[in-house]
Amino acid sequence: MTQTLSPDAALFSNEASDEPIAAPATPGRLVVLTGPSGVGKGTLLHRLRQEHPGLYLSTSATTRAPREGEEHGKDYYFVSRERFEAMIAAGELLEWAEFAGNYYGTPRQPVTVQIERGNQVILEIELKGARQVAQSFPAAFKIFIVPPSPEELERRIRDRGQDDEAAITRRLERSRVELDAADEFDLQIVNDNLEQAVARLADVLL
Ligand code: ADP
Ligand code: 5GP
Repeated sequence: MTQTLSPDAALFSNEASDEPIAAPATPGRLVVLTGPSGVGKGTLLHRLRQEHPGLYLSTSATTRAPREGEEHGKDYYFVSRERFEAMIAAGELLEWAEFAGNYYGTPRQPVTVQIERGNQVILEIELKGARQVAQSFPAAFKIFIVPPSPEELERRIRDRGQDDEAAITRRLERSRVELDAADEFDLQIVNDNLEQAVARLADVLL
């Protein structure tokens, strides 16, 4: 890579990134997975990765505080607002958005490396980010996860027990906007029965 990287970049480089990259016959595929907060995106991907550990999921940066059990570098890179804004300024993010009061973004370099190697990369991101990716990478395959009903979505967010009332309200408000945009996506999967939704996702990603 000849990209100029800021000191922050070390945090986001993947450990194999210095290996010579043999040019693959075809570049890898970028897959975007979107859907309202609480619909079950993380649960679906976690299940798929348990069965297929080789599935490459991009790790996002965020200014949100870690939830119980979340690990820096695994679930997210948890960074300050100052640091996130420096990454934006340095062009280190493939896409980014503000969601429910926090910044979220995809570190560019690890994704570029995987795509150049011919691998598939999955971005689990919200709507504004998905739209940015669609603009920059028209070939990206975009999947939208749909809840069985708005009531069930609210129940899942509440039962998850990880957000305070203000955050729940912001997420539910945003979910209405996101659901209205489902038609912009190449594929919609309803996450009602978990096993069926995992199987449907596996059909597309494996
Ligand atoms: P997201 O990553 O989209 O914000 P999560 O994966 O955190 O959503 O899921 C939100 C909550 O919904 C979790 O408590 C999870 O266990 C639950 N959940 C996910 N999928 C299903 C499903 N098919 N049926 C019932 N509950 C589900
Ligand atoms: P949560 O706080 O529930 O982990 O995530 C909130 C929302 O941010 C979810 O819809 C999730 O998909 C989205 N998100 C996570 N990482 C990114 C990212 O890198 N970019 C964008 N645009 N959204 C993200």
